[in-house]
Amino acid sequence: MEEKKLNVKWNGHACFEISGSRRIIIDPFLEGNPVAQKKKEDVQADVIVVTHGHGDHVGDALFIAKKNKAPIVTMVELAWLLKEKEESLEIHDINFSGSVNINGVKITAVPALHSSSYDGKYAGNPGGMIIEMDGRTLYHAGDTGVFMDMELIGKMYKPEIALLPIGGHYTMSPAEAARAVEMIHPKVAIPMHYNTFPPIQQNPEVFKTLVESGSKAKVHVMKVGQNLDL
Ligand SMILES: [Zn+2]
Repeated sequence: MEEKKLNVKWNGHACFEISGSRRIIIDPFLEGNPVAQKKKEDVQADVIVVTHGHGDHVGDALFIAKKNKAPIVTMVELAWLLKEKEESLEIHDINFSGSVNINGVKITAVPALHSSSYDGKYAGNPGGMIIEMDGRTLYHAGDTGVFMDMELIGKMYKPEIALLPIGGHYTMSPAEAARAVEMIHPKVAIPMHYNTFPPIQQNPEVFKTLVESGSKAKVHVMKVGQNLDL
């Protein structure tokens, strides 16, 4: 497939919009997100991807899916819980190493070292998501600690772009995320899941310095609301 530009927009926390031949929104936590500028009403998406059940990741997924008549792709047990809430929606349930292909967007679930609950219920395993579109590959790690199988994720899917949490407390901090970059070998790493709430205050420049002194990957520290053509 011909390689095209991907536009990556960060809405703060773990919420990214990825636009190429399709528009994807990942972990659409907008309402109640203290740093997000985008309103859930303004989101235009063809596919909604949710990594796990925590409120700061599911966010406005149901609202956006309904408004855009767009499918949600997420981990199996969370998919069931979301379906209970909104039976009319198209919700794709995938599990580790499993994929769905929706109009040219391939989404594959990979492990994340974290937990998952939704609406007070256990929501199965959390995931990271590999997203392939227009011949490009991006890895959204979800919320995760660092783990050795990130090396396999790097070798298997060869993501060019890795979106990695660095906030600490619930996920990797800059030190662990820099180690993750060494294992994943992306061309570009973008930090996320920091400076949204007091427990996850971090300086992303620490991550940038650690990565760029130790590997060939380039770190783009994005501003909330910023668009990047990659
Ligand atoms: Zn979480």
